[in-house]
Amino acid sequence: MKKTDYLLLRFGEVTLKGRNRARFEKAAVEHVRALLRPYPDAKIRREFGRIYVDPGSGSAEELIPVLQNVFGMTSLSPVRAVRPELDEIVKAAEELVEAMELTRETTFKTNVRRVWKDFPHSSQETNPLVASPLLKKFPLLKVDMHDPELELRVEIRDQAAYVFGEVIPGPGGFPLGTNGKALLLLSGGIDSPVAGWSSLRRGLEVECIHFHSYPFTSEQAKEKVIDLARVLAGYAGKVRLHIVPFTEVQTSFTRMGQDNLMITLMRRAMLRIATKVAEREKALALVTGESLGQVASQTLPSMNVIERATELPILRPLVMTDKEEIIRISRRIGTYDISVLPYEDCCTLFVPKSPTTNPNLRIVGKVEATTPNLTRLIEEAAANTETIELYAGDTRSPGAVSVNEDWF
Ligand code: ATP
Ligand code: MG
Repeated sequence: MKKTDYLLLRFGEVTLKGRNRARFEKAAVEHVRALLRPYPDAKIRREFGRIYVDPGSGSAEELIPVLQNVFGMTSLSPVRAVRPELDEIVKAAEELVEAMELTRETTFKTNVRRVWKDFPHSSQETNPLVASPLLKKFPLLKVDMHDPELELRVEIRDQAAYVFGEVIPGPGGFPLGTNGKALLLLSGGIDSPVAGWSSLRRGLEVECIHFHSYPFTSEQAKEKVIDLARVLAGYAGKVRLHIVPFTEVQTSFTRMGQDNLMITLMRRAMLRIATKVAEREKALALVTGESLGQVASQTLPSMNVIERATELPILRPLVMTDKEEIIRISRRIGTYDISVLPYEDCCTLFVPKSPTTNPNLRIVGKVEATTPNLTRLIEEAAANTETIELYAGDTRSPGAVSVNEDWF
């Protein structure tokens, strides 16, 4: 494969227009820089609401899967940059078609945009000047103005002309961190890491909180959650994980003899602790991996009683998503294989035979009010969290995630 000069990253209209533009652009550039940390001689240039990456001594092909994780980016293209002269543009276009090694008839059109008005031909005049020599040289090319397989684009600017054909979809969403900070309740399951990735993609800065009931849950269960947070850090550049000692809160409930309310009580305690940590870390929302109807605690009556334990908004990115779809995303983002490891989560351990799907808020409130020292135990758990920082590049880089698969 021939060397490509640049990778061109495009961003959504909403993202890079309007009042937030400067902030969004800066966040996008910072994210690109974080993802390119393992490639120190790659160079980043920002221009007209786009980002150009010069792969330096590495290859563009190698960088494509890395850069496909830039949130807010709608698409990216490998581009050839040449002097803004007609001969040079035609030559680059010919090389591009040659590299495709056509073996069957392929429809195409050219799409020229002249931004630099001193270029001697208008956009319309330039189209046939590029297309004719291509048609002559490659008999398998056929013009199709409406739905071509190859749209060969040329952008003529004063510094350079850019020639490209391939448009690779990006993840979309918003540049990382531009929508504020949220605290993700990260369990060892399949759902919450996917909810975390969805939040990152939507422009949230994500910190994670995990409730751990040592010695009822093992050291491996904790390591598993650290591994999951590390995968998220691969997408975000950096992630902080707060690990909460939850054993005492949990055992205080088991003594109350309200087995079928166990999950409801535990979830409400988790939300209370998470709210305290969120306030400390200045996060403005909680995120969970809940999906409507999936388990007893995720029925509408359960969610209703559980979420009254906090005043913070609870974001549930997966609330309307089917399990198969969640699994599909978790495979793509590289969390599935970790999530299915068999270590017990604190909730699975204490799950009663028949958890209620319709808890009564008044009764739940009464049980909480009579649980000895509950307020103090919750405060202590929040105060005694252990915080770990995880960085991109700690493990292999994450796989490319393309939004082209209509997930949502
Ligand atoms: P997941 O696959 O994310 O564990 P789940 O389908 O197993 O979800 P539950 O176990 O009922 O569902 O948990 C619902 C949500 O509560 C999780 O998605 C997660 O956000 C949060 N949660 C559950 N257990 C914990 C925990 N030990 N630490 C932090 N958050 C938790
Ligand atoms: Mg779970």
